[in-house]
Amino acid sequence: MAVLATRCSGVVNGVSRLHGEVSRRIFQPLYPRWPLCEVPITHVTNGIHVPSWDSSSADALWTGACGKDRWLSTMDTIVEDFSLVTDESLWRFRMDKVTALLSYVRECVSGQLLSAHASSELVDQCVQFLDPNVLTIGFARRFAGYKRPNLLLHDPGRLDKILSNHQRPVQLIIAGKAHPRDEEGKALVREWWKYSGRPEVRGRVVFLSDYDMALAEHLVQGVDLWINTPRRPWEACGTSGMKVLVNGGLNLSELDGWWAEAFQQGAGWAVGDGQEHEEVSWDNTEAEQLCRMLEEEIVPCFYDRDDKGIPRAWVASMRSSMSELTPQFSANRMVREYVDGLYCPALNAYRRRIANNCQEASLLCDWRGSLAQHWHNLRFGNLTVDRKDEIYLVKLTVYMDDIDQGAVQVQLYAESEGNGSPEIHIMELTGTVEGAINGYVYSATVPARRPIQDYTPRIIPHFDGCQVPLEAVNILWHEP
Ligand SMILES: *Cc1c(COP(=O)(O)O)cnc(C)c1O
Repeated sequence: MAVLATRCSGVVNGVSRLHGEVSRRIFQPLYPRWPLCEVPITHVTNGIHVPSWDSSSADALWTGACGKDRWLSTMDTIVEDFSLVTDESLWRFRMDKVTALLSYVRECVSGQLLSAHASSELVDQCVQFLDPNVLTIGFARRFAGYKRPNLLLHDPGRLDKILSNHQRPVQLIIAGKAHPRDEEGKALVREWWKYSGRPEVRGRVVFLSDYDMALAEHLVQGVDLWINTPRRPWEACGTSGMKVLVNGGLNLSELDGWWAEAFQQGAGWAVGDGQEHEEVSWDNTEAEQLCRMLEEEIVPCFYDRDDKGIPRAWVASMRSSMSELTPQFSANRMVREYVDGLYCPALNAYRRRIANNCQEASLLCDWRGSLAQHWHNLRFGNLTVDRKDEIYLVKLTVYMDDIDQGAVQVQLYAESEGNGSPEIHIMELTGTVEGAINGYVYSATVPARRPIQDYTPRIIPHFDGCQVPLEAVNILWHEP
């Protein structure tokens, strides 16, 4: 279906920068002989509709600092406006939101226990489950294998210790479901269910069944920390972590999907090294790293209080995450990028093509027909290079068969020396070959900064306003 859609589309995009990269690799076979960096897939990173996911207390806090229309304009002044919020009011906001979440969670748990016919003793105990003064971690998702929902459970004994530390306790709210036919996912749900039922962690871990949007809404509005551990680069974008931003939750996440471009020091934490790893043992490495970060960095940061009882470094992270990341990963920014970068150009191209009874569209069809029929007859003749001081003078003969000279572009192509765009020089038509039909001479001058071997002549289709190679995949490389 993706191939069909691609062949029928005027523009194709992934939903995060990394997803764009991965998609160019996956779909490269649709563009044979084209360099990876020219596979015509761009990206627009997803964003969430912030007003749908902020709590009413978050809305009040934001409205006080940034006004009611904060998500409707350019959002340029958000960081500055948000700096008016004091540490004290941010921390009070945190206390309120966690308290609200915990009363919701206790109700869910007692409902679950009642419907499972648990003893009334156990149901009564629920009131004592969880504590608003404790660091509250949320972990909720579809239990699919690639999301590695058991990474945190890798060493259960070590997790026990993190949760039940007397000075610096941690509590965990888990939710998630698996596809009915996903045996691996269902086994992972069972693993967490079993873990959360053990007396060692009673009151510190709850597993909530029936993960859905309503439950997700409560979780993202209340937690201190949101954990996400997909196997890079499998998460196309991931959006649940974006939902905690506006509500003052911090992310601890794999450098995958959106977090690979969102993570910045002092606004959350990153798992992994930003690379892909084939070896199975890498899961162990990351599980270890995850626990170590909680033990050595994250939990201490939360409990490091000043004489007013405020964890200043934690609050500073809340502030950066809220004011710097929320606008960036909002639907406002996303829709703007789609409209300006993709939809409007596509609409304008469409309008040009259908004007005057589809004049341009029918020329475009003829052009594609001619390429299909004659492309294989294109061939190169002589190639000469003269060096004059600091420039190369490149001359190339091309025999066009029945293809119109204006229907193609002759280029010199060199790969980027870094990670940037390739270096492309368009060759100009400077003469014809005497005694040949449709034989042309093309020339270009290139600064002699790099060895001439870096540059390869090539011919690609050309039609004003046409997306190459999305709409015409031909390419011919000069072979030495
Ligand atoms: C946001 C959301 C998701 C998507 O979360 P990801 O991080 O992209 O996996 C899935 N389910 C529910 C109920 C959600 O609210």
